[in-house]
Parts: sequence; C-alpha cells; structure tokens
Amino acid sequence: MSSPARDDAELVTYQMHVDGKWVDAVSGERFESHDPFTAKPWSLVPRAGAEDVDRAVQAAQRAFTGGEWPRMHPSQRGALLRRLGDLVAENAERLAHIEVRDNGKLISEMAGQLRYIPQWYYYFGGLADKIEGHVVTTDKAAFTFTRHEPLGVCAAISAWNSPLLLATWKLAPALAAGNTVVLKPSEYTSASALEFARLVEQAGFPPGVVNVVTGFGPECGQALVEHPLVRKVAFTGSDRTGEHIYATAARGLKRVSLELGGKSPNIVFADCNMDDAVKGAVSGIFAATGQTCIAGSRLLVQRQIHDQFVERLVAFARSARMGDPMSTETQVGPVTNLPQYEKVLGYIDVAKGEGVQTVLGGGKAERPECGDGWFVEPTIFTGVRNSMRIAQEEVFGPVLSVIPFDDDEEAVAIGNDVAFGLAAGVWTQDIRRALLMSERLQAGTVWVNTYRAVSYQMPFGGFKRSGLGRENGQDAIKEYLQTKSVWISTASEVPNPFVMR
Ligand code: NAD
Repeated sequence: MSSPARDDAELVTYQMHVDGKWVDAVSGERFESHDPFTAKPWSLVPRAGAEDVDRAVQAAQRAFTGGEWPRMHPSQRGALLRRLGDLVAENAERLAHIEVRDNGKLISEMAGQLRYIPQWYYYFGGLADKIEGHVVTTDKAAFTFTRHEPLGVCAAISAWNSPLLLATWKLAPALAAGNTVVLKPSEYTSASALEFARLVEQAGFPPGVVNVVTGFGPECGQALVEHPLVRKVAFTGSDRTGEHIYATAARGLKRVSLELGGKSPNIVFADCNMDDAVKGAVSGIFAATGQTCIAGSRLLVQRQIHDQFVERLVAFARSARMGDPMSTETQVGPVTNLPQYEKVLGYIDVAKGEGVQTVLGGGKAERPECGDGWFVEPTIFTGVRNSMRIAQEEVFGPVLSVIPFDDDEEAVAIGNDVAFGLAAGVWTQDIRRALLMSERLQAGTVWVNTYRAVSYQMPFGGFKRSGLGRENGQDAIKEYLQTKSVWISTASEVPNPFVMR
C-alpha cells in the first residue's frame, strides 16, 4: 500500500486488519471509494459483514484477556503509543494525501491535521502510567482503595470528515487505558484507517489490540454495536445514527460516548474587531467546505452592523479559490460524497423555498477549476429566521444562514434555540460580555474571538443533541475506565454474618 498519485489508472485494493493479519472480507466482497474531485473511484475496500466483525471482536477479546497486552506495564503501553505517534509524524504527508484523495478536504488542512495527530498519542501515552486509584478512609475496619480498570473491547465508529483525527480521539485514550479496539471508519473514507493499521503493526502492538474492519453502517457498524463482547461504543457521526446506536447499545448495557452534529451560532457583536470577525465567520463555515461538526452555520449579527458586515463577508468569501484540494492554493474543495452533495443542494432549495435572500452562491459550482467534482458554491443566505429549517437542521456543507439580533438577550435566546449544542462563537471586545456569553450559551465549546480551535488537552463534546461524554483532555481517559472498590478487612474477628455492614 502506498500513496496513490491521482493519475493512477488502476484502483488501489485494500485489505482489513484483523488479529494482526491482512484479510479480505469473508464474503470476498469489496466496494469502491471515490475521489470527490474527480467523482471517480480510486480504491477498493473490503465489505465486512457480521462474520468479519465477529472475528475482529473475538481477536480483540483474546488480546484483552490473554497474551502480552494485559500483562504489559502501563509505562510500556505509553511507550508503544508514543512510538505510534512518531510513526504517524514520519508518515504525515503520505497519510494526508490519502485523506484528501478519499474525502476531498484541502491538503493544507489535512497536512496540518496529520502533523498534529501525533500529539494525541504522546499526551495519552503519557497518561497511561498515571491512572491511579486512591486509598479511601471509610467508617469500617478495612483497608479500602479504588482501582481504575479498562473496560474490554471498545468499538470506535467514526465519520468521514476528519477520518484519522476522529479515530485518534478514540484510539489514543482507549489504548492508554489498556482496552483493545475494533475501529470501523466511515465507508466513504476507509483507506487512511487501513494505512494507519500498518503503523500500529510497525509500532509493535500485539495482534488483536487494534483491528480495523471496513464496511457499511447498517451491516458492519450495526453488527459491531450489537456484538455481546463489545463493552463500549465510541461514536462520531450524525445525531440520527447516534440515537440509533445509543438505543442498540442500551440493550447490551454498554458504555457509550457520542460526538454528534451541530448547528452552531457564531455571534458577531457591533463592538467586535470586524476584520477578525469576518475571517472567523468564513473559517466557521467555508473552511472544510462546511463539512465539520462545529461549523458556525448560523451567523448571528447585531443589527446595527448587519448590512456592513454582510457586505464585507460576501466580498471576502467571493474571493475564495475553489478547485483541486491537492493544491495548496485552493481554499474551498468539493463535498466528500454524492449523497452529501445532493443533500446540501437539497437544503439550498429548502432555504430558497422558505423565502430567504441569496447574497452569495446558491447552487452547484460549475467552474472549470472544479472539473467533474462535487462542488457547491459557497452560499450565504440573509433574511433567515431562526425557526426556518435552514436554521434548525444540520446541512454539513458551505451554506451560511445570517440572522440579525438586537441585544445580548436576543443573541442568547436565538443561539440556544436549537436542538444541538456543540459549539458557539462570540466576537466582541468587551470582556464582561464575553464571559457572560460563555456562561449562557448552551454548547460544549465556546470560542471568543476565534473559531475552530481544538487541542488534545481541551475537553470536546456536545450539550443537548450534540452528544454524550467528552473526548480530549485528561478526563477523556475516564470514558474508557471503570472503577473497582477493594476492601481488605482489618477487623480482629469476622462480624455477625447475618447483618450487612
Ligand atoms: P453517519 O451518522 O452517517 O455515519 C457515521 C458512522 O456511523 C459511519 O462509520 C457509518 O458507517 C456508521 N453507521 C451508520 N449506521 C450505523 C448503524 N446502524 N450502526 C453502527 N454504525 C453505523 O455520519 P457521517 O455522515 O459519516 O458524518 C457526518 C456527521 O458526523 C455530521 O452530523 C457531523 O456533525 C458529525 N460529526 C460530529 C463530530 C463531533 O465530534 N461531534 C465530528 C465530526 C462529524
């Protein structure tokens, strides 16, 4: 497997990684993965079903209960994770090209992401030997202490927009905690996870500790969530799938963490630095072609600067260069897959039907530099009311709804009046307003005078329909641990056996 150039005539054929071996699906079936810039297939990926999932989960269970992994000292686990981080760093450029080939995001974004991913393996590798229980003083004659232990086999199921980053947010803490993992990447972007598995092998992880199965949600993903040996499901994807996974996992009483969608308000006050806020609005929605869970897809602008702000925003966004995501010059790339492309165009029609004004874009991008790719024009709607579907539902594309507001109260009311609660942006030079807004906005992340910043050190997750649990930061490792209480009697005699104490 190597980094494929775009003019490759032959499809690259991948295998899955199960129990330390490279395998095809039991059925022998494969499916095509498309390059969003050319709209043509570029690779073939195994189509895993329930039997393949069972093999991977059984391997992960064996690796959890026997062999080297459970006996490994946590410091050795940490060292393995750091070695994996080094290997990702060494292969960052190659992996970034594969990501772009599969999901059409900009090479400038993906190269930066791949150079950053090793930090998660270093950070959680460092935490592996700092998982400490504590001695508890109780009212009983006993020496009592807690231990924090891994859960077992964890399923990691992720979305297509930042494939290796989203997988890493699960893998790094899960492995640091001593679990084993079966990763199922999105069916639209499986290649990078399979290339990554090779680095896991090279780093020296025992067979079965990390397995990658590729396939479709309803057959491969569903079988994984249902598997009785899976103890935890870590999921990134849409709220609808998240709800279904939560219900399925509940039947097996499994732990679940969910990173779901958003409809985040990016709120611009009249006292902002307007140059910064214009860039922040653009980065909030047009970077990554709007295909990010934290997209600032509702731009709330204080009424007295509304017209001036929109004019500057439109001028700035109009100049964005579209084209080949492999070029470092490109600023807006294609939409990742055909169903998503059709969905985005469908929402543009919905908005127009709701009576909004289109001040930029508003349809397919049919420019020569876009070739045959799935491109949508960066689109800005004004005259949007927060109750409209375009303001309530996640589009996951380069489509911005501008909504005016009068004062702080109204900004908070509109900002929070949505089912999601993933992120929010606030642009103001008033520190008091910044603090109050950060308190009152119902979102897992609030950015003030910046947008889209994330770090391995900072917890990330959603309020409301945007999810459950947190990734990143020290506490993320707790999502992959369970607490055991140990009692060692120090009593001089065994007390009355018929009475609870
Ligand atoms: P999706 O929900 O369609 O699919 C996500 C994953 O779930 C895929 O791997 C898919 O194969 C799998 N899946 C689908 N049905 C399944 C089932 N029945 N059982 C098990 N697995 C199943 O989402 P998507 O279109 O790939 O991604 C876009 C969504 O992801 C957006 O809503 C976006 O906001 C969200 N997202 C959230 C975050 C976050 O951290 N909060 C980050 C990125 C993307």
